[in-house]
Amino acid sequence: MKINIDGKECTAEEGEFILQIAKRNGISIPTLCYSESLDGLSACRLCIVEVERSGRRKVVTSCNYPVKNEINVYTHSDKIISMRKTLLMLIASRLIDTTPIKELLDEYEVKKNNRFINNQEDNCIMCGLCVKACEILGSNAIGTAFRGINKKISTPFEEPPQNCIGCTSCASVCPVGAIKYKDEDGIRHIWNGKFKLVKCEQCGSYYATEKQIEYIKEKVGEIENIHLCERCKKKLNANNFKEVFQNIKLNNK
Ligand code: SF4
Repeated sequence: MKINIDGKECTAEEGEFILQIAKRNGISIPTLCYSESLDGLSACRLCIVEVERSGRRKVVTSCNYPVKNEINVYTHSDKIISMRKTLLMLIASRLIDTTPIKELLDEYEVKKNNRFINNQEDNCIMCGLCVKACEILGSNAIGTAFRGINKKISTPFEEPPQNCIGCTSCASVCPVGAIKYKDEDGIRHIWNGKFKLVKCEQCGSYYATEKQIEYIKEKVGEIENIHLCERCKKKLNANNFKEVFQNIKLNNK
């Protein structure tokens, strides 16, 4: 199927999301809460675009709008730019300045509006990506608490969460770096919890928590090289490949 994005004809599979098609075709649509590894949450709404079919236009979030027909998509129409500016102003009012937001504010020439500033201490934009990541992992250790302007991401009763394995997946998917953690003296501190870190058997650097390794073993069983850090795993794979390539070369002589 063909769709038209900003005047460019793009090939699309039925059911594919507009954002994926745009990315594949080098068309940039701003996002904050989009992660390639998770389904689109459409929480930050910055990925809005106008979709036109049979002469009628509507505004949709491109991260979770599946393409079913031949459509025209406008990612930077006047209407979209104006709506994005308002969204950015509201998002920025929740935040202490962070790089991804600063760049977007500059790009869209948006200034912070003091009328909406709230005095929260963290940078959370309430996109829910961290909660989703933890849920997919099966830990379900964090969720939303309170309502309105007091709404926040938290552990149950703000206590160290029992289900948390200290994996930091929540922190890695956070688009604005709002989730803080610290590794100190072999202990990881996150969500008011403390987790014993384990060392890579090859290089001796801390790479995961004890609870995380136990959890992986419990869920998927003993996997190859589970006791190695990512760097050593890559090194090992590279050496294996080198050996394979050398053997192929020798056999071809
Ligand atoms: S560190 Fe804890 S809260 Fe964060 S994703 Fe891992 S299990 Fe969930």
